[in-house]
Amino acid sequence: MGSGSGGNATLVEEGQTRLLVDCGFSAKETRRRLALRNVVPESLSALLVTHEHGDHIGGVGVVARDLGLPVYITSGTLRAAQKRLGTLANIKEFNAHESFGVGEIEVNPFPVPHDARDPAQFVFSNGDRSVGLLTDAGHITRTIQEALKGVDYLMLEFNYERDMLLNGSYPEALKARIDGDYGHLNNDQSAQLLRALDKQRLCGVVALHLSNENNHPDKVRFRLSTALQGAEILQTVADQEHGFDWVGI
Ligand SMILES: [Zn+2]
Ligand SMILES: [Zn+2]
Repeated sequence: MGSGSGGNATLVEEGQTRLLVDCGFSAKETRRRLALRNVVPESLSALLVTHEHGDHIGGVGVVARDLGLPVYITSGTLRAAQKRLGTLANIKEFNAHESFGVGEIEVNPFPVPHDARDPAQFVFSNGDRSVGLLTDAGHITRTIQEALKGVDYLMLEFNYERDMLLNGSYPEALKARIDGDYGHLNNDQSAQLLRALDKQRLCGVVALHLSNENNHPDKVRFRLSTALQGAEILQTVADQEHGFDWVGI
């Protein structure tokens, strides 16, 4: 429903189960963005949290209370985010190494290297098809490669073009944070992951979490098309305002 440092939220649906993954928007803005996708807010099943950064949890507390949703969160993220989240009536702690089910969706979390307490990203499955989500990771690990192997659809961070970041106007400390091992994935890293990935089942990739300042959608489109050369794979670039449309898998 929106992707970038101004707020992130992703919907995953199977049958009657609708998951909202992260929510970096206010309750009102979340309702507006759900309406754009013809989703009745009261029909959501649960909220899942990747990590405690504001662009991912800014709206989790208010939206969970507004809609009475259970919040799935790792214990480290909960501890780091507790103040910001406020009182939650229904907390479901998960372990980033263990799969769990929510309604008709199997959730397979995996840990990622990011400057957060206990961050996780996810592969969602209905037992037949699977969708991977990977943003907010400083580098690609063996764990990540294993987790995303054989997914049917991939939502993947393309945060920054390295030259643009290093020659840009950000303070040096922030540049080092973003470019560090616990920062974000740059266009090269994500393209490399795509090249190395088992793509037998892959039917689409959407690029997420692009930096406004240090990236350009055209650069990402070029990276996607060269990394996926020759394969018939749907390529999309998500943005802050609209995210991307429903994709059926
Ligand atoms: Zn983020
Ligand atoms: Zn983050």
